[in-house]
This record gives sequence, C-alpha cells and structure tokens, in this order.
Amino acid sequence: MSNSHKQIRQKVAALLKSGATSNRITITDITMRGCTAVLTAPITEEEDITLQILKNIANGKRDSFLPAPVSLDSILKRKSRNGEFYEAKFSFRRVDSVEHGISWAINNATADDFLSSSLPINHEQKNNKHASTDAKSDSKLVAINSSLSILPVTCHMCGEQHIPFRVLSRRTMKPESNIFGVNQYKSALPGKEFCNYNLIRITICPICYFASSQFQDFIREASLIKTSEEPFHKEPIVDKWLSGSSKREKLVEAYQQGLFDENRNIKQALLSYDLAILSSNAILKMQMAKQERARDYRIGLQIVSYILTKAELLMSKQKTSEAENNLKIALKKLQEIFIYLNNESSIKASYLIGMIGLYFEIPDLINQTFNFLQQYGKQSKPRAGTEEYKAWQKNLEKFKTAYQEREDFSRRRLKGFDKPFEF
Ligand SMILES: [Zn+2]
Repeated sequence: MSNSHKQIRQKVAALLKSGATSNRITITDITMRGCTAVLTAPITEEEDITLQILKNIANGKRDSFLPAPVSLDSILKRKSRNGEFYEAKFSFRRVDSVEHGISWAINNATADDFLSSSLPINHEQKNNKHASTDAKSDSKLVAINSSLSILPVTCHMCGEQHIPFRVLSRRTMKPESNIFGVNQYKSALPGKEFCNYNLIRITICPICYFASSQFQDFIREASLIKTSEEPFHKEPIVDKWLSGSSKREKLVEAYQQGLFDENRNIKQALLSYDLAILSSNAILKMQMAKQERARDYRIGLQIVSYILTKAELLMSKQKTSEAENNLKIALKKLQEIFIYLNNESSIKASYLIGMIGLYFEIPDLINQTFNFLQQYGKQSKPRAGTEEYKAWQKNLEKFKTAYQEREDFSRRRLKGFDKPFEF
C-alpha cells in the first residue's frame, strides 16, 4: 500500500501541456506510477500530454522540472460549487524521477506549495493567500436559498478546499421533531424562504466523497494556516479511505448531477446519508481498534442519527416499509454500540431503543429501556443540576409519558413518525 495520503494532502502544482495549450493545474495524488489531477477543461487521449511539476511557487521563483510525458487513463466530469471540472488520472510514460520531479513531488512537496497551488477555477481568489483565508471575502459563497449560509471548509481526508458547508440560518424555519427526535422541516417562518434542511444537511467532498453533517469533521478555512485540531485520529484511516474511493465512485455515479448543489432530490439526499454513514463507520472502526472510547460515543450516535434521518426522509415520501427498515437498522446499531456508551449518550440511546420498541410494540425493548432508565439513578448516581442529571430526568419523563399513551405511539396509530402530541 502506498502512503498516498501524504501526497494527497500536499497538493502539487504543475503545468499541463497538451497540444498548443498550457494550463496550471493541481495534482491531488501522485505515486511513482501515475497521478490524479483536477482540470477545468476536458482533454483527449490523442493529444501529446506532458506534466511539468512546479516547485518553490510560494517564494515566487516558480522553479520547475523537465516535462514528464504522460498517458491519460481516465477523465471524469464532476460538479462543484464553482461549476464543472474534470478529474483526470494519468500514468507516467517514462519515470525519470530526478529530472521530472516525480519523487520530489511525492516526498518533498512543502506546505507552501499546498497553500499556493490552485485550481484554475478560482485562480484570482486563491492567488491571494489572505483572501482565501477569510470566509467573508469569498463572494462566491452565497447560498441560493436565502435561509442558508455557507461556510467554506477543507476535507481532512484529501485536502480538497472550498467545499461549501451549508448552515440553516437561525429564525428561518420552524422545525418540529418526530418521535425519534429527528427534525422535520414543514414550514418557514413568515417572510422566510422554505428549506428542507434534511436534504442538504450532509456536506460531501467532491473528490473523495468524505461526508458528514458535523462542521468539526472538516477543516474550517478561516483557520487553514493555523494547525487545525483533528476531530479524529486520521492518520490510520486516510490511506484506507482514499484507497476505497472507487467503491464510493460507483455509488455516486448515477446521482452525480446536482449531488453537490443546494437542490438535492430525495435519492441524492439518501445517498448523502449513506456516504456520511460510510465515512463515520470508517472512523469508528479505527477508533474502536484504538480504544478511543470517548470519541466513539459521538460517532456511534451520529451514525444512528443519520439512519433515523434517512427513515424520516423516506417516511415523508410515504415509503413506509423502507423507512421502517431503516428503523430496524438504527436499532441494530444502537444495540451494537450500547455497551460502549455512558452518561448522556447511553440515556439517549436507551430512550431511542424504547421509542422504537413502542413503535413496533416490542415489549422486550420497552422493558429494557424502563429498567435502564429507572436503574440509572442508583447505578450512575448523577448529581442534581448536572447535564447528565437533567438528561436522565427529561428522558425518563418523556418515555413514561409515551408509555402511558403507548397505543398512540404504535405504528398502527401514528401518522408517519409525527408526534401524536407535544411532549
Ligand atoms: Zn476529500
């Protein structure tokens, strides 16, 4: 296995010469055999293509190596906020690493090169290092829907920059929550534009398809120059993640058009959650192996919340059996992670297990939740006034109320997953 993640995060600038034209491009991955690059215009195989790797860009010298002849293996059209672009895979036809700078690019590309190398798509912005670090100065990051705002983020896995992270602005929508605590977006506040945020909650990297609803899972671009704190131990998973991208590519292929835009249809939204689940599972697997329990809680419950949101989206389209199937998947995940959870996480998980039990009318699940929540006080002895204590009291009360009206919470009586009454 190559250690390609090292290179992919240290993007390398190069000149692509094809026929009479020459364009500066960004190489996003490079090995001794070939590389992946981002282009603004398509190129064809017949053309005589060379790649000239550039170095010392930051200090203005723009030193370069000899052009390396390459063959075009594949070219894929992709969409981003900036419009269409092309991702091309090349193989080196003659590897003379010293002259062509290939081994230099693999081993010695510096942080300066990374910061100053740019996609030609928004050349002007990125040429000015300071402009690209200030979210407000990036005038292109304006959402079409006036109820949304966009924060530019960078992907932890592959280093792709300027990915739009969409946030629902405050006091725009009036979300309700369903019986599993998943937000439902049915109407906007007076004078505000409607936005079903569940459709676009997930931010997807257009290059490696890392996906998450959590801002902290990406690098905030305003802090790109400072070292950004890692939300998870990425070292062991980056290689694995990037090497599995062809599998994700297949998943995404059919729904590519519009997947990265603001207007996702339901199929694209469901796919975005699948990508987020894949991403979280990849992290969770590694963290579990490393006994990083404290971090597992968030990720484990995050996966459950993705699955429950899929269920809500499906139910809102009257796809009852698919929605219910996702409830069962969520239940399985909850049971799988339950022993690793503690404090508020275990309270929340137990409550969800009980609510799924009420929905399907499964006495074992209902009893399990009652036992856990009632015993919690004696076993964990949460101190009054703490967050843990409040969460325990609130969830116990809510579950008691739902249990007393359990008929109303059964799948026979409910309308979708809508709450039968406010509680
Ligand atoms: Zn990425």
